[in-house]
Amino acid sequence: MDEKINIQLSIDTENLLIDGLLTAEAYKTYCFKKNPYLFLFDTNEMLEEPGDLVLLRTHGDNYIAVNPPVLSLMDCFDGETNLESLFEGLPEEGRRFLVSDVTDDNKSEFLTLTKEEFCVDDGFDVFFRLVGKLYRAHLIVPVDIRWEPVEPVFPSPTPRTPVKPCKPVKPGSAVLLLGDTTGTATAGLLYLASYLRRNGVEAYCQWNDTANTPASLREHTRDLLEKFRPRLVGVSMKWFPHMARVFEICGIVKAYDPGVTVVVGGNSASYYYRHIIENPAVDYVVRGDGEKPFLDICLGRENIPNAVYKKEGKIIETPITYVHDEKNTSDIFLSHLDDIFVSKKDIYSVKNFYINTGKGCSMSCFYCAGGVNVQKHSFNREKPFIRGIDEVRKDLETVKKYTSGFMFDFDLPLYDSLDYYKQIWEGIDLSRYFCEFYFWTVPSAAFIQLAAGTFKHVLLSIDMCSLSEPHRLRLAESGLVKPQPTDEEIISFFDICETYPNVEVQVTPILGLPYFSEEDITRGRFFISRLIENYSPFRISWGRLHAQPGADLSESAGRYRMVSYAKGYDDFMQYSRLNMEAETYPDLDSLNYPYIYSEDSELNRKTGQYFMDIGKMINRRRELREKRFIISRSVAPGALHAAADQLVGLLREEGVGPGSIKNSDGDIDAVNVLDAAGAYYHNRPRVRRILDTVITPEKKANVPLLAEDTQLDEKEFDF
Ligand code: SF4
Repeated sequence: MDEKINIQLSIDTENLLIDGLLTAEAYKTYCFKKNPYLFLFDTNEMLEEPGDLVLLRTHGDNYIAVNPPVLSLMDCFDGETNLESLFEGLPEEGRRFLVSDVTDDNKSEFLTLTKEEFCVDDGFDVFFRLVGKLYRAHLIVPVDIRWEPVEPVFPSPTPRTPVKPCKPVKPGSAVLLLGDTTGTATAGLLYLASYLRRNGVEAYCQWNDTANTPASLREHTRDLLEKFRPRLVGVSMKWFPHMARVFEICGIVKAYDPGVTVVVGGNSASYYYRHIIENPAVDYVVRGDGEKPFLDICLGRENIPNAVYKKEGKIIETPITYVHDEKNTSDIFLSHLDDIFVSKKDIYSVKNFYINTGKGCSMSCFYCAGGVNVQKHSFNREKPFIRGIDEVRKDLETVKKYTSGFMFDFDLPLYDSLDYYKQIWEGIDLSRYFCEFYFWTVPSAAFIQLAAGTFKHVLLSIDMCSLSEPHRLRLAESGLVKPQPTDEEIISFFDICETYPNVEVQVTPILGLPYFSEEDITRGRFFISRLIENYSPFRISWGRLHAQPGADLSESAGRYRMVSYAKGYDDFMQYSRLNMEAETYPDLDSLNYPYIYSEDSELNRKTGQYFMDIGKMINRRRELREKRFIISRSVAPGALHAAADQLVGLLREEGVGPGSIKNSDGDIDAVNVLDAAGAYYHNRPRVRRILDTVITPEKKANVPLLAEDTQLDEKEFDF
């Protein structure tokens, strides 16, 4: 009789969370455990009125601030002690629990807090609301149900790190660096600001721009100009959809003070430099790598390399002779991070700090603006270069104190990434950090093992140009794209990642490349279903094919039986203006892009449908994940029967008996429900329909073991 029965439970987390339907009593036997993938910041200086709050980041990519009693409580969520035991064992002291959502209000220098206080003296309901809040914030995860009480041991509250005072800003001589889009600017600005500081220039950098309307952009930029009184402003024009926004920023600067020198640099500025310099608000364009040219401009030197500028009514161009390579790599590294940011929150605004490990590319994928030909045109870079091990290690050590995670995205095709990253990470304790790695190919088993063993949590993103294997391989064999993985290589990658609980996967296909057929739609659907059905949740980030400046496909679409909505500068500017003129500046997922379509309109329609269908599959899965979780456990038969009896009692109260229920699905046989506890979980779909038919939501929430219709397995919802 002691033998346990394995069952699966599906819990509606909305009911767990919604006050109206909340029946806290029903959840007293539930157990949670602390999310193992949490990062505790050493400082709270980025928070507005932080008091004793401690800032945390979770693998759900959210920030949350809590007071020390919450930290202590979280340590008690051990997966063994149920909620009732935890509540009963709460210490007399420290019963005021503060949990605060953290947001970025662009008006403030600090991250803004929305505090919620839970006073557990008011009973289990309040404690349960606190649990719901911690669960929603990804601080705890559900694991089990336990009927037997356990004596919890509460640790003492964790003391917080003292706040450091801000450094005063020296007015009048500054150089201000701004990005081109809302959100995070390129990390290249930080490398540039660091370089300028090391060479005696008082440089400041805004890394996170939260101004997403024309009015707020004006107001916010003017505030920065007022605060720093810069003599020179540098604006990054990296990605072409933001060109119009860069011109807007330059115009705001000149309107504030025509005497401020405005310098524009970055990939798009380097490619379209002749157009950019014609803008009346732009004084200089820096082409290619910018450190030395920018410093020369700041210091008023002559013979500046890589520069385009206006002099006595003429436009002067100097050749690109400054190029980052193995000889000057030791000059480029991060420093002065305490000094260069425009606000206390700025450095913390980015979840994963991008560490530059190299530049350029040896490939020339026909849709990409980053290939070797464009690199040569814009940067005079003949071949990619990898940064020196020592410089990159220095960056990691410098950044550790400010960030909760790192991002890398440089593994050259046909290059030994394993050895390089092993040398970079070796001996530096990165075990409390998140890591995001954008792979250009599929990483080896040894690399996955290295990353999983180095970081707390790893997101490995793999690049592929189609979900359909024949399509991928066709393009690669034609030499149009870099080498592509086979399905089996991708599956094997998923298999390996599945063995590491701290590794998450993302795939990044492109929709609508040439030589795509209906057969590829079928293959793509099949492949993604295979991944969904067999593996833990993974992320998919796929973009529709769009034109990029200088890419072969944008300029010669007709050769591939395609139509491109942009070829030259004017076309790209037109789309960029659409972004600038939007009421709210579009985020990355909703930017206006000039797309590239097939000449075959029927194929376009089917490709669009395919995109939507797969989007729905992915969304459905995401919703399921957000709304419910499933736990798998062993339970004593007696306990199961008791719970089943409770359900049966409820049904009887409603007058349910054998053969008594009918609904639009046809006859539903309630005998199974009433007959035996076994049917309670063996016949979940029917039980669900019966419950929906006869029991009110309030009563349903009282059923402690509410099984649901689901084909999903334990792994799928194992957070
Ligand atoms: S898409 Fe191709 S050309 Fe572009 S950066 Fe990646 S590998 Fe290089």
